[in-house]
Amino acid sequence: MRIIKIFFIIFLSFLKLYPILEDKDRTFEQFLDNFISKIEIKEEQVNKAIWLLETTGSKDAADLVATLDSEYKIYFSDEEVYEKLIYFEKDGLQNPILKRELKILLNTFKANMLPKSILIDLSKKEAELFQTYANFRANIEGKRVTENMIREILKNETDVKTRKIAWEASKEIGLELADKIIDIAKLRNKAANHLGYNNYFEMQLDLNEMSKEVLFDTFNDLKVHTDDSFKKMLLEVNEILAKTYNVGVDEIGTWAWKDPFCQIDPIESVQLKDLYADKDVLEIAKCFYEKMGFEIEDLVKRSDLYEKEGKNQHAFCIDIDRKGDVRTLNNIHPNSQWMETLLHEFGHGIYDLNIDRNLPWLLRTASHTITTEALALFMGRQAYTAQFLEEFLNSTNNELLDSIEKGIKRKQLVFSRSAFLITEFEKEFYSNPDQDLNKLWWDLFEKYYYMKRPENREDKQDWASKYHIGLAPVYYYCYLIGEVFASTLQKKILEVTKEDRIWRKGAAKFLTERLFMPGNKYRWDDLIEYVTGKQFSSDAWVQECN
Ligand SMILES: [Zn+2]
Repeated sequence: MRIIKIFFIIFLSFLKLYPILEDKDRTFEQFLDNFISKIEIKEEQVNKAIWLLETTGSKDAADLVATLDSEYKIYFSDEEVYEKLIYFEKDGLQNPILKRELKILLNTFKANMLPKSILIDLSKKEAELFQTYANFRANIEGKRVTENMIREILKNETDVKTRKIAWEASKEIGLELADKIIDIAKLRNKAANHLGYNNYFEMQLDLNEMSKEVLFDTFNDLKVHTDDSFKKMLLEVNEILAKTYNVGVDEIGTWAWKDPFCQIDPIESVQLKDLYADKDVLEIAKCFYEKMGFEIEDLVKRSDLYEKEGKNQHAFCIDIDRKGDVRTLNNIHPNSQWMETLLHEFGHGIYDLNIDRNLPWLLRTASHTITTEALALFMGRQAYTAQFLEEFLNSTNNELLDSIEKGIKRKQLVFSRSAFLITEFEKEFYSNPDQDLNKLWWDLFEKYYYMKRPENREDKQDWASKYHIGLAPVYYYCYLIGEVFASTLQKKILEVTKEDRIWRKGAAKFLTERLFMPGNKYRWDDLIEYVTGKQFSSDAWVQECN
């Protein structure tokens, strides 16, 4: 019977109706149908539990996430299935879509081909860390304060003593979390070693299709080409800050910057705050996306937008089911930071919502964190352009608009330094989690910021106060590569649409067709080439920073 079938296929393949190799493709497709139907349901359950945990911080939700997440991962640690995948890989598939699906599956499997005890231990510890993080509130003079409150002080307070207290309060969480994070890092390393990698950092890059060499070469390139600009900016910034706080230039430290991690424009105009004082940033964000022609009413309805006890104090976007249930978590305040964040998170949202629904489930995601971050950063950035403030905040003060727009360049210069710092920190951290990590953190700070470390931090764990180190590991590099792609995207869209601003229907059409629709059909760098017509390049970003 089998022989007859083979002859029949050979005969048909002569007629070009049924190429022989498609038989293997078909077997793989059948395997996928069966396997994905299970994964799809489990992923939706995990995502709903994560949502519950992040919006409430409840212990029950943390337990639920841990259970479901390890159940989900166990699907991806089935030796028998993994072997089948290896077989399909060796056999060579023909259809490029199936090949891509196989590649994605193999990478996901690799990350989970671990003893069950490690998988369960990791899920449990990560969920615990999430919960501690969500429930932690710092103390200022005996009062519990939210992260939003600390950020408000750093943004607006002029009293040096109060600023220093707030900056220190922003680091309190580090001491609370450090040991837990080190413990998890060692476990992550154990997992990576098990799979033949030197450490977790190297494994994460590899499984996310990012070459370590390309990454560090790119970062080095970005640094070298903007260091003069950065140093020049720093001189100007320090002078202004010294005047603002009435101290000597040599006394300026991290406390004088406008956020706990020296990541935003340190001399952002205080007038920007006044611009937002009586504005509804949610309405503005809706209006912005409507002007582009994106429907976001449903996304807004599904989102959790304002602060509450126990809730994660940050912001994120989650695609629950790859079928249109997309939600964002925010903690809206009427200021420029939340304007930017809302545009950013809704950016992730429209990306997810506009991926071609006809793609197979495995490809119905962004191509890489880099591409979705690039789009979100690109949207967020608009909040600082003169055109945006003119159109959505009715500001007509040209001098003010000009000074705010200059902040975009400063922000890129400053933010890139923090991405260099965090990425190198993670590389060193995972290669030796037992070293003096606080020293490493501040050594790298001095290396990239050309600023002195703050005093009396020797017995602290300031590195551990950065959310991403513990909870979104080996992720930060995506933001900077994303910024670089965002600059290229901005240039490309204005060129293609011949418009002077991006919240236009032409831009939306271009983004939908080129960037969103393909989902994860192409590897991130191939997608960038598909979108821009050129290989990934840092030219547009470097140009903006000089
Ligand atoms: Zn993002």
